[in-house]
Amino acid sequence: MVLLVLYFVVFGSVRIRPAAVGSLTFAILFAVTVSGILSAGIGGVDKGQWEAAGALGFGRAGAFFRVILPQAAGRMLPRCKGKLVSMLKQTSMVGYISIQDLTKAGDIIRSRTYDAFFPLAVTAAVYFAVSSLILLAAGRVELRLDPRRRRLADPPAPARDQAVPAGPSGTPGEELIRVEHLQKSYGGSTPLRDVNAVVRRGEVIAVIGPSGSGKSSLLRCLNRLETPTAGRITVLGRELTGGGAELAAVRQRMGMVFQSFQLFPHLTALENVTLAPIRLRGLPPQQAAARGMALLQAAARGMALLQAVGLGEKAHKYPGEMSGGQQQRVAIARALAMEPEILLLDEPTSNLDPASAGEVLSVIRRLAAQGMTMMVVTHEMQFAREAATRVFYMDQGVLYEEGTPAQLLDAPRRNRTRAFVQRLRVLHFAIDSPGYDFIAMAQALQQFGEKHLLPRRRVEGLHHAFEEIAAANIVPRLAPGQTLHILTEYAESADRLEMRFLWGGAPCNPLEEGEPLSLRLVKAFLAGSRYDYAGGENRLTVQI
Ligand code: ADP
Ligand code: MG
Repeated sequence: MVLLVLYFVVFGSVRIRPAAVGSLTFAILFAVTVSGILSAGIGGVDKGQWEAAGALGFGRAGAFFRVILPQAAGRMLPRCKGKLVSMLKQTSMVGYISIQDLTKAGDIIRSRTYDAFFPLAVTAAVYFAVSSLILLAAGRVELRLDPRRRRLADPPAPARDQAVPAGPSGTPGEELIRVEHLQKSYGGSTPLRDVNAVVRRGEVIAVIGPSGSGKSSLLRCLNRLETPTAGRITVLGRELTGGGAELAAVRQRMGMVFQSFQLFPHLTALENVTLAPIRLRGLPPQQAAARGMALLQAAARGMALLQAVGLGEKAHKYPGEMSGGQQQRVAIARALAMEPEILLLDEPTSNLDPASAGEVLSVIRRLAAQGMTMMVVTHEMQFAREAATRVFYMDQGVLYEEGTPAQLLDAPRRNRTRAFVQRLRVLHFAIDSPGYDFIAMAQALQQFGEKHLLPRRRVEGLHHAFEEIAAANIVPRLAPGQTLHILTEYAESADRLEMRFLWGGAPCNPLEEGEPLSLRLVKAFLAGSRYDYAGGENRLTVQI
């Protein structure tokens, strides 16, 4: 249809050679097909790859040509090859606009000689030969573009003399990051409401907090993978506002490590590490390779297997051929290759098994010891305690509490911090009349115990405390209008289980004045108790 419309309608009144219209038609059709494949191929590359390239300091164009297109090309070429061959078959249509192509010529010969077989056989043979040649040529192109089929160069000379880059120099304590009234909204949700923070050179900040509290958003705003909705961010003395060259310059001095590694899959470990220094710093490839080897060696240190295998070989492995732990260490080496002054790590170990996580954490610890300024989002409290100089607790869109690891993890000042670091689980009942739903509360206690995997004896203790202390001895004495609050609290980190009773009225400790028989029963389950009376309120806490 396209061919006929172009020939008879569009160019109907123009003197033009049919062959030109035929070429134009197939050029248009092929362009449309290929652009579809192209955009699907580019769209199919993980968004994180753009971010990883951007975080290294590549602009849009650099990221596209160095990182995205090579990956997309690998997926597109096989499909383009198929389209090319089917397009070749379709060219036989040009007979309709009186071009004598191969098929048409075959038809003419057939109609004159009445020999059906020979012209068709020859036509088929020619088509076969031409499509084979096209496939061969396309295969060559594919081979050249696919990095995995490239012949590997010899590994660069062992980098023994290459010093591993030490911690960056600069005045310790100098302010590197300042965040003022940072706010970030996505459509409906506002994960960052008002964040204020200062990070100084040499500090290692562990960022902790419940999932969804905005930890990743904060890190991503710092290097502008996300654009803040409001507020100011000053990094290395420059306020981050616009994009462009200035942003790229700041990003080059600030490395980022992602939870999902985001290594470039079309490049070897070594190439991942050397890409940015070669392309963005203009470092000569030989020199970059030697430095890259030193970085990989440093990242691999302490890992017996890698040393046994020999790093030269590993450096030429592709990300898909490495374990998660190895990939993450290569990702750290890649971030360090630009000699950043700040390293941002977003849950670098949460996709790893415990052994690999330990290895990655030891790499991060070593960096901390070398004086690298870091912000690490982590759920590893032990790591935060040992390696961090300060801990940020994020909650409800603000930097809710900060302090040294000892302050924040062992003696948190605020309630939510306490609940988070002690992993408090709380169950609350309020009873204000004798007609309360005893069965429902008993069931809730049972579920609470099961959910937190409490042993049977402790769950029994909870039931007894509820029944013998509250139901048997407090509720009957409640005056109308008075309310009894029962808080069941389980601190997972300390394995402490408590039940707290709060009610008004005259002072009365049910553990002493209550019904003796039922109290004897419950006391067998208690590990301790505390009673006081203040401000017209009875407060009894029992440990179970
Ligand atoms: P954390 O890393 O602390 O778990 P995040 O910063 O990833 O938290 O997310 C905070 C909140 O912001 C979450 O509720 C999440 O759903 C939302 N959020 C994060 N990124 C996006 C986004 N690109 N689009 C919409 N909502 C987002
Ligand atoms: Mg996160």
